[in-house]
Amino acid sequence: MDRYSVITEKRKREIVLLRGRGCAYKRCTFCDYHLDCSPSDDDNFALNAEVLSHVTGEYGELEVINSGSVFELDNRTLDLIKSTCRDKGISVIHFEVHYIYKDRLAALRREFDEFTIKFKLGLETFDYDLRERILLKGIKDADPAVIADGFDEANFLFGIIGQTEQSMLRDIELGLNNFERICINIMCDNSTAVKPDRSVIDTFRTRIYPIYKDDERVDILLNNTDFGVGE
Ligand code: SF4
Repeated sequence: MDRYSVITEKRKREIVLLRGRGCAYKRCTFCDYHLDCSPSDDDNFALNAEVLSHVTGEYGELEVINSGSVFELDNRTLDLIKSTCRDKGISVIHFEVHYIYKDRLAALRREFDEFTIKFKLGLETFDYDLRERILLKGIKDADPAVIADGFDEANFLFGIIGQTEQSMLRDIELGLNNFERICINIMCDNSTAVKPDRSVIDTFRTRIYPIYKDDERVDILLNNTDFGVGE
């Protein structure tokens, strides 16, 4: 499993895939990466310290992901993220967060007040029915502005049965209107029952990808390892 990489396109930054106690939510039907976890804070810290030792600060920006939310990392890892960023001259840190932690965002921003924090929400889609009846994402709000409040960025998931060119374009448009940046993830085969829909993916590749592939505000992961981390 690769846990450190450098993103050299669009918003350049280093990225680390750390490990926490495990996603507190775990119910998203398309997800099996929450299995990357350990109940041992000591084991997690040892692994995370090794991963963070690779950070150089070359772009002054670090994205931290952990197969869940930042709030599931142990305190020593959080302190080490802080000291590593301080030592390496990193001023911007991106963390991923599930919506259940929306009320804790401000406190974490205060805790990291020497840095600019960018919270990335796992939203997947603004289509309420798809999100809450099929993907079981656990975001019970529907108003895009309410959902986006407190978050800076969002992940979207494309390539699911039922999605269309129009629905994906609507997600991108709403995403860019409500967040600073968005990241589009194309559904890949995994151990869950949610399978990639080849026809939806073809539609994305031929009709939508050419429009947004060079957009600085849109990251696109055609494969889930395109950032260089994961397996
Ligand atoms: S997508 Fe994120 S919030 Fe949902 S189960 Fe997976 S790790 Fe948890």
